[in-house]
Amino acid sequence: MARKFFVGGNWKCNGTAEEVKKIVTVLNEAEVPSEDVVGKFFLKGGAFTGEISAEMLLNVGIPWVILGHSERRSLLNESNEFVGEKVGYALSLGLKVIACIGETLQQRESGSTMAVVAAQTKAIAAKVSYWDNVVLAYEPVWAIGTGKVATPVQAQEVHLELRKWLHDNVGAEVAATTRIIYGGSVTGANCKELAGQPDVDGFLVGGASLKPEFIDIIKSAT
Ligand code: PEP
Repeated sequence: MARKFFVGGNWKCNGTAEEVKKIVTVLNEAEVPSEDVVGKFFLKGGAFTGEISAEMLLNVGIPWVILGHSERRSLLNESNEFVGEKVGYALSLGLKVIACIGETLQQRESGSTMAVVAAQTKAIAAKVSYWDNVVLAYEPVWAIGTGKVATPVQAQEVHLELRKWLHDNVGAEVAATTRIIYGGSVTGANCKELAGQPDVDGFLVGGASLKPEFIDIIKSAT
């Protein structure tokens, strides 16, 4: 079964009403496949000032959530296990999950990229029983918001290894059908070449998702 190209926009904590209005108008005017909305949450609701619960996302009709983003892992100390817990909880409520993994520059330079992403994926996989609602986002930390994009060869190398990991640890069917998307300084200028890699099934886009070039990224596989 072919994997349907998947592109997510991560606006993070950005966007004035004016900016959002502009980009939504651009998206609405472009001929792109229908959009889903993505949110972020903490865990089950409760006394967590400033957080959003999974139940709240569902309540306002948001079907997708980004979990395990490196900014949460580093700024809020979210561990592999905690990310796994959140993934399991989101899925149990019927949310669909973009689960992020990725190595730091230091980890890449010390040759531990695959060990790091495998450990992150293992903690997520431990909580997933139904993979249809999961997209795995490989986001090297050194490429997020830095303008330093992974080369197509670097991205393909890790995506292929991740697919092998899924094959060996989860199953052949899940490995063949799960979307593994790339995130890290994707732009309208570099998306085509990345999208041409056999194991790159889409993108998670930060900065460029607030700009009109997001349309080119959405259409990069066509
Ligand atoms: C992200 O934050 O998920 C991301 C990939 O950001 P950027 O595209 O700006 O590097």
